[in-house]
Amino acid sequence: MNSTFFSNLINEFFKSSKNAHIKFKVGDIPDDNNFKYKARTYPSYNSPQRFYRVRLKTSFVKNASLIEIALAIIHETIHAELLDRSIQSGLILNIKPNGSYTFQNYGNISTYNNITIFNALTTYYKNLGNGNPQWNHDQFNIFGYRQKLSENLNQIHPWLDDLNNPFINFINSDSVITDLDDFFDYLSWEGLEGTQEYINLSDDSKTKKDYISQYVRSEYNKKCK
Ligand SMILES: [Zn+2]
Repeated sequence: MNSTFFSNLINEFFKSSKNAHIKFKVGDIPDDNNFKYKARTYPSYNSPQRFYRVRLKTSFVKNASLIEIALAIIHETIHAELLDRSIQSGLILNIKPNGSYTFQNYGNISTYNNITIFNALTTYYKNLGNGNPQWNHDQFNIFGYRQKLSENLNQIHPWLDDLNNPFINFINSDSVITDLDDFFDYLSWEGLEGTQEYINLSDDSKTKKDYISQYVRSEYNKKCK
């Protein structure tokens, strides 16, 4: 992966603050109530300079294909961007070292419509049902980040391809997924299975998403292990 890829990623997703800092590392991530993380984004807050640490889990990186790692990096970078926007707009207050935080409904009053809409929609999703722990993943869908993630993966996948068994062979020969845009669109749902939009997808779409996830896990280039 070259510097162009990363600079595009940062420029694309870090529009809210050019001064935010982000660090990528590989390390251990403890499971959370039997939930196994592939990666996590840790914010620092209540310090003069905000920064974000993206950690990819060692065991995930060892076994993942390149496209899965790229997906995880982009997914976590979006988390960092959305966290940063949520902090700047006053939705998230007082992040503690263990990652817990106070959520302020509707955030700070703003004269900018886009911030008011961001805060109102996020507050709506945060409070769905008896409180919705997937609200930050819902933000991916409602603010168009999942779509961007899908397009970004499509743009960079040639760098992750196996020249001896190019990915386009799969698209050309497969009977279920025959379109590149569809392929990356289904793949972009990875990690967003708890969102309202995913829950509302048709069973056919969910089956295709699982099919693509399975393919990427087992077949996409693992030569660089
Ligand atoms: Zn996530």
